[in-house]
Amino acid sequence: MVTKQDYYTSLEVERTTGKSEIKKAYLRLARKFHPDVNKDAGAEARFKEVKEAYEVLSDDEKRAAYDRYGHAAFDGSAGMGGSPFGGGSPFGGGGAGSPFEDLFESFFGGNGGGRQSGPPRGADLQTQIAIDFDEAIFGAERELNVTRMQICPTCNGNRSEPGSQPTTCLVCAGSGQVRRVQNTILGQFMTAAPCERCHGEGVIITDPCHTCNGEGRVRQTSNLTVTVPAGIEDDATMRLSGQGEAGARGGAPGHLYVRVRVRPRKGFARQGKQIHTEQPLDVAQAALGDEIEVPTVDGPAKLKIPAGAQTGQTFRLRGHGAPDVRGGDRGDQIVTVRVQVPTKLSNEQRALFEQLATSFGRKEKDRTAVTTEGKDAHGAKDGDKHGKSILGRMKEAIIGPDDE
Ligand code: ZN
Repeated sequence: MVTKQDYYTSLEVERTTGKSEIKKAYLRLARKFHPDVNKDAGAEARFKEVKEAYEVLSDDEKRAAYDRYGHAAFDGSAGMGGSPFGGGSPFGGGGAGSPFEDLFESFFGGNGGGRQSGPPRGADLQTQIAIDFDEAIFGAERELNVTRMQICPTCNGNRSEPGSQPTTCLVCAGSGQVRRVQNTILGQFMTAAPCERCHGEGVIITDPCHTCNGEGRVRQTSNLTVTVPAGIEDDATMRLSGQGEAGARGGAPGHLYVRVRVRPRKGFARQGKQIHTEQPLDVAQAALGDEIEVPTVDGPAKLKIPAGAQTGQTFRLRGHGAPDVRGGDRGDQIVTVRVQVPTKLSNEQRALFEQLATSFGRKEKDRTAVTTEGKDAHGAKDGDKHGKSILGRMKEAIIGPDDE
């Protein structure tokens, strides 16, 4: 076991925290990190850590030993099941009371808390898929070819050649465990170690299956259909329970983790449940207002632009965003408008803009002569520097290319 977290830190409690508070902390963290609920990659490890810490801190005797000797009190054990306190686990099959007990045991494939004597769980696998932007909004299905250790089809995982039976191990008389008394710093304890002859299984395979050489599993490639939930975000990881490798000697299968990459869609950006797009408007649309069609993931949608729309102004298209991956209503699409000033004008447009300029109160000479008229000091200064009025410069900018 690598560096071990302090049990109090694991449960996020103080060394002085009372029993009932420790239980509350445990239930809260267990709910938060339970692998059936939390699909984050580190959740399972954290869950095991929390569970182990609780097994010690909820038991007065173990807690006292831990307070005095730290992790050394339980040294030499692969997990709590193999500690000198073995058998006293709150999950030890005696119905010692957690409402999650069944859930936990079914998840870990435990058998009465004797975790160390069970066959090892199969390895977890990891793969990656890519989906389109719109598929992330609406959900998708993908076929996956997974090469993994699977239950042997010949012996169905029981490892004996069909027709033959395993025989009971004579060393442990089929119990899989050998008990012995051990003297430790804390006194005398009865310990149970897995039988070395049968590796804790209680039986010996005398006629191993010819397909899997008595391992109970073989490497095979399978085709899996993966359902990607609507609303998934880029770089999310899905956990497919039990779709990893089959465990050796009948152990529970591992999980398959699928990392999902979402390909970008041009012009669309996603932020949680919101989708952001930009919409160009010409000066007339911006000034007069318009009803336009904007692209959404649901196809074109109508959007009313009020008269006097400004660049950078945003409009909300309700329900055209993404759903939350946990379900619920879809978010909105936020449309940001960009008013586009024309860089080239036809003669007619130019005449109209000049007419417009006159209508805005500029005289003909204002548009060509030096002027410092302006509402604010900065504008005036700017006008000085370039020796032209704002409108004059604008005109120059618009008709400039024609003069070259
Ligand atoms: Zn086999």
